[in-house]
Amino acid sequence: MAENAYPPGAELPPKGFSRRQILSAGSSLLIISLLPRAAEAATILAVRTWPADEYTRVTLELDAELKAENFTLEHPDRLVVDIQGVSMDSTIKQLVSEVKPNDPYIASIRVAQNRPHVVRLVFDLKQPVAPQIFTLKPVGNYKYRLVLDLYPKVAHDPLMALTKDNTDNDPLAAVLEQLARNSPDQAPIPTVRGQEMPRTARRRGPLPPMEEPPDGGPNRPLLIALDPGHGGEDPGATGRRGTHEKNVVLLIGHHLKKLIDAQPNMRAYLTRDKDYFVPLYVRVQKARRVKADLFVSIHADAWIKPSARGSSVFALSQHGATSSAARWMANRENDADLIGGVDLANHNRQIAKVLLDLSTSAQITDSIRVGTRILDEISKVNRLHSRQVNRAGFAVLKAPDIPSILVETAFISNPQEELLLLNPKRRAEIAAAMLDGIKDYFASNPALARRA
Ligand SMILES: [Zn+2]
Repeated sequence: MAENAYPPGAELPPKGFSRRQILSAGSSLLIISLLPRAAEAATILAVRTWPADEYTRVTLELDAELKAENFTLEHPDRLVVDIQGVSMDSTIKQLVSEVKPNDPYIASIRVAQNRPHVVRLVFDLKQPVAPQIFTLKPVGNYKYRLVLDLYPKVAHDPLMALTKDNTDNDPLAAVLEQLARNSPDQAPIPTVRGQEMPRTARRRGPLPPMEEPPDGGPNRPLLIALDPGHGGEDPGATGRRGTHEKNVVLLIGHHLKKLIDAQPNMRAYLTRDKDYFVPLYVRVQKARRVKADLFVSIHADAWIKPSARGSSVFALSQHGATSSAARWMANRENDADLIGGVDLANHNRQIAKVLLDLSTSAQITDSIRVGTRILDEISKVNRLHSRQVNRAGFAVLKAPDIPSILVETAFISNPQEELLLLNPKRRAEIAAAMLDGIKDYFASNPALARRA
């Protein structure tokens, strides 16, 4: 066997290497074992899959950054990914069993050593995909990550998601179908120089004598975008008992959706309905796409001191924060994209487009108004951390035309509040209080909602 049976600097064959492969390495093994450790190949530390309708993510966590090449094949549809610098081991074999039966994209995964130090993953697909493959540097509790995002060839439309679970006689379904037929960008992003007036700003002026029929007709229900924070690779904060913020806020979100959908003139839309990662700017985009009348981001964060407790509500600030605590909270929430994992190379332009400081004082005024109502209602079921709506530069609250608030339902870092978040009855109380606050706000701002 030639000396280059293993590339220079490669490590000894790891556990799980076949006897034949070890034998084929021949006499070069001894020489290679004397090479410094730094030159060793990477080890796969963990594998995870996050299936969702929007896209399925497959993550390989490694102790070093590596390269991957991919190509797709048709008849049947497959995605082939060659990962360089690794060898087969028991962790990567786990990928095979990580495929969930309800995965919309992946039917099965096959894993094999393709060449020395190249592992080939073959994804047998349920539909053609547009893969996005990228690496992430260590952040939070994660080491290096190789991320494989499998998107559908035709992009998922939040409007379609809304109509899918509607019944035939749902008044909103017809409105949404009508919206879907229009150009996707019919709601223009206002420009910084104000050539386009944001909707909230337009609503602020005196009513014209003959009011134009509102968008979607007089029966259009109020549409509330509910945004359960974090998800997928981003667990959010974690309590002492190991409760992840992403899970409890999703439960509160689903519960609040049920309550809202039971109202005669309201419908809710979830920016995230499962345990998967949604970048912050995508949450904003989804709410704008469905023309939400209100955006409510739901969280349950940690604080430095476990004694901190109580609910709080945040709105956007264009310049600075109302307190250093609010700034700290906003920075923490804005880190979600780093932890969750955004392919910055691909999304930079979109992020820049959406996250430009486009917000208006009108949006913020409305946000504080609705936030105050929600705080009033929550005070009946839980202690408040702050009696006022605090403000800071939360990226997820930057829809220029939708009143947007972020509700910290409780501190998961407080052992008593972690119990509250784990208790379905207490979660239901918080959700009901949020609904009451939302109803209260729209009861006193009917023109605002109707003229969306
Ligand atoms: Zn959070």
